[in-house]
Amino acid sequence: MSGPAHLISAVEKRLGPKAVITDAADIEPWLTDWRGRFHGAAGAILAPASTQEVAEIVHLAAENRVPLVPQGGNTGMVGGAIPPGDGTAILLSMRRMNRIRSLDADSRVAVVEAGVILQTLHDAAHEAGLRFPLTLGARGSCTVGGLASTNAGGTQVLKFGTMRGLIAGIEAVLPDGSVHDGLSAIKKDNRGYSIDQLLIGAEGTLGVITAVAVRLVPAVASRAVAWVGVDRPQDALSLLRFLEGRTQSVEGFELVADDALRLVLKHIPGTRAPLEGSCRWQVLVEATTTEAGHDISAELEQLLGDALANGLIGDAVIASSEAQAEAFWRIRDSISEAERAEGQTLAHDISVPVDAMPDFLVHASAEVERAFPGAVASGFGHLGDGNIHFHVRAGSRSAADWYEREGPAITRFVDDLVSAAGGSISAEHGIGQMKVGELARLATPARLHALRAIKQALDPLGIMNPGKLVP
Ligand SMILES: Cc1cc2nc3c(=O)[nH]c(=O)nc-3n(C[C@H](O)[C@H](O)[C@H](O)COP(=O)(O)OP(=O)(O)OC[C@H]3O[C@@H](n4cnc5c(N)ncnc54)[C@H](O)[C@@H]3O)c2cc1C
Repeated sequence: MSGPAHLISAVEKRLGPKAVITDAADIEPWLTDWRGRFHGAAGAILAPASTQEVAEIVHLAAENRVPLVPQGGNTGMVGGAIPPGDGTAILLSMRRMNRIRSLDADSRVAVVEAGVILQTLHDAAHEAGLRFPLTLGARGSCTVGGLASTNAGGTQVLKFGTMRGLIAGIEAVLPDGSVHDGLSAIKKDNRGYSIDQLLIGAEGTLGVITAVAVRLVPAVASRAVAWVGVDRPQDALSLLRFLEGRTQSVEGFELVADDALRLVLKHIPGTRAPLEGSCRWQVLVEATTTEAGHDISAELEQLLGDALANGLIGDAVIASSEAQAEAFWRIRDSISEAERAEGQTLAHDISVPVDAMPDFLVHASAEVERAFPGAVASGFGHLGDGNIHFHVRAGSRSAADWYEREGPAITRFVDDLVSAAGGSISAEHGIGQMKVGELARLATPARLHALRAIKQALDPLGIMNPGKLVP
């Protein structure tokens, strides 16, 4: 019997049939990533229901020298949850570990298992009069374990930080099968290296996260969502600085290029342009308040009126209802889908220092279009975090083999521009298998040495998600 087959039968014997899925039709949907760029193979999905069961599986995997690929909702953008194509690894689905173990309104901490879906956590916090502020387009299917393992960002990072800042503690099974329990949520702990912090953003390469203690914040009493037109990305950043100097209410600030808006209007049914005039760039601004009596719409309207009077912005409209606010967000959240409908697109989730992003965006787009005539480069997203999704569409260079033929050269070109600007080739999506080659090419020797040394020290047998993140 091969290693994987031996592991599958050992797990079935120990944990029973519920913990092992071997039907090819049930496995198939989990072998391709959300963007359809990576396809893998696996003889089974192991589906533990408790931390103890995860520990038993990891022990058996180590004994049989069979790699495990942890998977949550499989919404990751870099192929991190997809096993290799040769069938040597087994998928470890965390979706059965979906209990909210506790939610304490006084300490504002919830302890949730790794397989809890983000929307479920939002709903539970809401019922308790609280809020888990991290949110993103995949909230209906991504899991808390996946969010922690990728140190996900999303649209409210400006005010609340990334997942790392919202985690009070982690429980995980390490590659030797031992259980790290960091869930006590103590505020001060200086017992040396933080195991919790090592596991956040480790993309399943250092262990399996089984539960996370997350920080909650007061619920929003009301919000105001505005759509603003500006001439240049630099004006958008000036608007953000203008608003930040006058209020602490802004928590969402998303840049949208006019051509991205046009694609959404063309491909996404039921969408309408929020503004009548045509500005080359647009910004979605969200401001919130936790005070019941505070008129947040009036506050934002006043501030945008002042910005207009100062010549900072070209035009603005504030959503007049919750439905209209949702419609504005739908435009922002549909950009990737609209680009896909338009044709082939190469996505680059990049960051540079916040104040350098406006110039970077303009110059990098021009340089890419000069180097690859016919391709269309543009960016959208979290300008206030210095994080833009810099996408290059095939345009008139479109061809069946465009990704394979030109994709790597275009990505190298973009990544070189990002590196020269002192930025990161992965702002919030991680490295996975998609960016591991570029990380090897561009990371400093110090970073590469530390990544490899940590991996080797914690996972000497290489059984945790091999081929991902660590070059
Ligand atoms: C429409 C859409 C919008 C998105 N928007 C954003 C955005 O704005 N910001 C952002 O940051 N991301 C975004 N993403 C990416 C994605 O949602 C996040 O990366 C998410 O954190 C992945 O969660 P998941 O449960 O699907 O993890 P998966 O995709 O299943 O796994 C992701 C990685 O984590 C590892 N992993 C998963 N669970 C565990 C575990 N319990 N223990 C150890 N390792 C584990 C996997 O091995 C893999 O390496 C978006 C995705 C989609 C589809």
